[in-house]
Amino acid sequence: MRHSVQVMATTRIEQVPTGRNFIDGQWVAARSGRVFENRNPADRDDLIGYFQESSAEDAEDAIAAASRAFASWRLVPAPRRAELLFAAAQRIAERKDAFAREMTREMGKVLEETRGDVQEAIDMTFFIAGEGRRLYGQTVPSELRDKFAMSVRQPLGVCSVITPWNFPMAIPSWKIIPALVCGNTVVFKPATLTPLSAANFVRVLEEVGIPRGVVNLVTGGAEVGTVLSSHEAVKVISFTGSTTVGRVVNERAAPGFKKVHLEMGGKNVVMIMDDAQLELAVEGCLWGGFGTTGQRCTAASRVVVHERVYDEFLREFARRAAELRVGNGLDAGVQVGPSVSEAQLETVMDYVKIGRQEGATLVTGGHRLDSGSHAKGWFHEPTIFGDVDPQMRIAREEIFGPVVSVMRCRSLEEAIAIGNDVPYGLSASIYTRDINRAFAAMRDLYTGIFYVNAPTIGAEVHLPFGGTKATGNGHREAGTAALDVFSEWKSIYVDFSGRLQRAQIDTQEL
Ligand code: NAD
Repeated sequence: MRHSVQVMATTRIEQVPTGRNFIDGQWVAARSGRVFENRNPADRDDLIGYFQESSAEDAEDAIAAASRAFASWRLVPAPRRAELLFAAAQRIAERKDAFAREMTREMGKVLEETRGDVQEAIDMTFFIAGEGRRLYGQTVPSELRDKFAMSVRQPLGVCSVITPWNFPMAIPSWKIIPALVCGNTVVFKPATLTPLSAANFVRVLEEVGIPRGVVNLVTGGAEVGTVLSSHEAVKVISFTGSTTVGRVVNERAAPGFKKVHLEMGGKNVVMIMDDAQLELAVEGCLWGGFGTTGQRCTAASRVVVHERVYDEFLREFARRAAELRVGNGLDAGVQVGPSVSEAQLETVMDYVKIGRQEGATLVTGGHRLDSGSHAKGWFHEPTIFGDVDPQMRIAREEIFGPVVSVMRCRSLEEAIAIGNDVPYGLSASIYTRDINRAFAAMRDLYTGIFYVNAPTIGAEVHLPFGGTKATGNGHREAGTAALDVFSEWKSIYVDFSGRLQRAQIDTQEL
């Protein structure tokens, strides 16, 4: 995400709050003395604060602190680590409303959704804290007499956590909390567009007594991210963001053989069959396509509709989309907030132009909203293209905005083929009343997440979350699958026979 960073002398900015980095248990300024602005995307006159424009040195300081802290944190019993996390979940719950309001102000999604975001962080923290008393390994019989065999989860060390702006508290919690419960330490770099929500989360961890150096926050852009993905002391990188940046992170981490967990872009499909409950499908596509202003990795940006119900569906979908209330997410009744930034809005407008040039039919929307109550924000009409060919760019590339491409199909098989024919593989869904079709689609869509009679969004924290192909590199977050990212297996054999016993040797002895 492009973001303009303003450099100011600290003396000129005393009137507005300045967020700091959190390194080795202290809230500190970046060594460069530079800061960047954080403005409300619904009202660019609303300056939320300044945050540290950190450089490589700050990232190195944080990694050094996390390395030192690992020596003792890894030895704290996991149930004790978890007690701190339970306390953190409780404290976030107490401040849910305030955190949600600040989140809406800094990134624009409507209050109901930011409350959901904070709730997800609460749920994840409670859920994963419970793992402090489990972290199950295996005990298995040995092939030899008087010998005991087991496997245990081990922490790896310093984890870099690099996150996007669209779920500013939920996504960090999906990474930081499992990293901590497993006994790792963390250096966290949030998106430059959402440093306040990141600081709110880290402050709670500080308040409940997470020891110094165990969690560190460094705000800033690619320079910080570069150190976090290449530094020798970093053992795990958990990244969520665009496929372009994820690839860079992966390449940078490869020479050091780091464990890299990548959650990246999506181009998710809803398939609507001719036996579907159409009203339900319309509701699902409105929420899936325009919820979070289409800025979800799981957004339903493609809809493939059986030709027998195509016209009816598109007519109703367009009618309802045109009725959606776009505005400031803090205002009651608003259903769709702004794009997160000017750059993101420009991307949306570029794709609208591309869609027209490619010959798709603009069914509704297509314009920026910039007058009246929309004058000071990055607003765009909910936009639907019909007659989209699956090979068009608007049907293949992630737009990350309120733009949905609707395509025709003649059969389930064709819908599945279109559904799979994109570089991404995060989420897919089918609307049908035929259980055979539902199960066939569930099996044949090559995605990490699948829904039946629901849109492509709505994951729950206790199931694995992640995607295939250019969306992910095989790891999963959330659920207990997250523990696999932040721990590694050690197999332990205890021989209590008092003599040399040789495994892997062919022997007839019973
Ligand atoms: P982004 O890739 O621009 O940024 C993600 C993070 O990477 C930010 O913290 C950013 O500052 C950092 N970064 C930027 N350049 C870097 C570099 N050179 N080295 C290391 N870090 C660097 O993504 P974004 O715009 O913040 O978020 C939107 C993207 O995130 C979309 O593509 C969306 O699909 C994806 N996303 C994916 C999931 C998922 O679970 N699959 C969830 C949410 C968002």
